[in-house]
Amino acid sequence: MDVRARTCEILSDLIAFPTVSSESNQALIAYAAGLLEECGAKVDLASSPCGTKANLFATLGPEMDGGILLSGHSDVVPVTDQEWSSDPFVMEERDGRLYGRGTCDMKGFIAACLAMAPTYATQVNARPMHFAFTYDEEIGCFGAQHLAVDLKARGLTPGVAIIGEPTEMRVIEGHKGCYEYSTHFHGLEGHGSAPDLGVNAVEYAVRYVAELLQLKQRLRAMAPAGSRFDPPWTTVNVGALQGGVAHNVIASKAQVDWEMRPVTASDADFVKTALRQLCDEELLPQMRQTYPQAEITLETIGEVAGLEPMDQNEARQIMAELTGANGADLVAFGTEAGIFQALGMDVVVCGPGSIAQAHKADEYLALDQLDQCLTVLQRLGRYL
Ligand SMILES: [Zn+2]
Repeated sequence: MDVRARTCEILSDLIAFPTVSSESNQALIAYAAGLLEECGAKVDLASSPCGTKANLFATLGPEMDGGILLSGHSDVVPVTDQEWSSDPFVMEERDGRLYGRGTCDMKGFIAACLAMAPTYATQVNARPMHFAFTYDEEIGCFGAQHLAVDLKARGLTPGVAIIGEPTEMRVIEGHKGCYEYSTHFHGLEGHGSAPDLGVNAVEYAVRYVAELLQLKQRLRAMAPAGSRFDPPWTTVNVGALQGGVAHNVIASKAQVDWEMRPVTASDADFVKTALRQLCDEELLPQMRQTYPQAEITLETIGEVAGLEPMDQNEARQIMAELTGANGADLVAFGTEAGIFQALGMDVVVCGPGSIAQAHKADEYLALDQLDQCLTVLQRLGRYL
């Protein structure tokens, strides 16, 4: 059977596992582990804290630093309220396209990796080939964060990581981070006519928002020289502001939902440090003068690290050579790539299919995209 037919066969199996992020991915991971073990890979599974999900990390060849890592997330977004022309969890080929939930985001890439594994097994020599299939990417990259902790503990750093998110096989070397938070303010209720007897959470939340807006302006001026991001600076958005109950009641609770999309990790630190200072040195001491139990808590909804374009990037060199690309681009969507970069790897995002088809009804992967991917993965063997 040729490698494309084998990839389609594996992809059809992967699509049949309904690995929506709210559900278990263990059956899919066990299936992938079986295929990798068959060709001699050393496979490690790590259970999620809740016990219903798992990461897979597998190695062909010697266990040493500097290997090549092919990585993908095993979870998919839900099909709820979407009108599909066919069963989303039964892969169907129509007009040169493979339809099904996850075909392009991103089980097509995983299937191609699994189909190539037996070939890599005969090629590995001085440099190991690793496979990482993670859980819960779609809801905050939790699986990859967990994998990063495990790799660190093991002291293993692959040299190059290729994240096969759908880029139509374009080589992507950067994207902004996406950090989301809810900040909660707890004050003291009281009558509107006696402001000194209460602590108005809404007023403190507004001062916090004012600081966020000032930081937003300062970040514009901090755009790195030559930044190719659009816009080139770190953005801040205050998405929701809630609090209080009525005109004449001092508000005891308020909440600010906000996000930032940092172009560098240091920008994110800058914002968080400024906010912490504001709370610890100004807002909280004032609130606690009247009400010692007053609190401001920062709830992290998700912190997906950005992928910073680097001058030196072996992953970019390899993939540019294999795809024939002239350079590498940036994208607007977030991936697990920044988590691997933070571990010291050279990382690019490059995979089959288009992000335009991801997350939608009738998600599909064009067969010519799959062919391009397989060509590149076949050529990748020469770097082992
Ligand atoms: Zn994805």
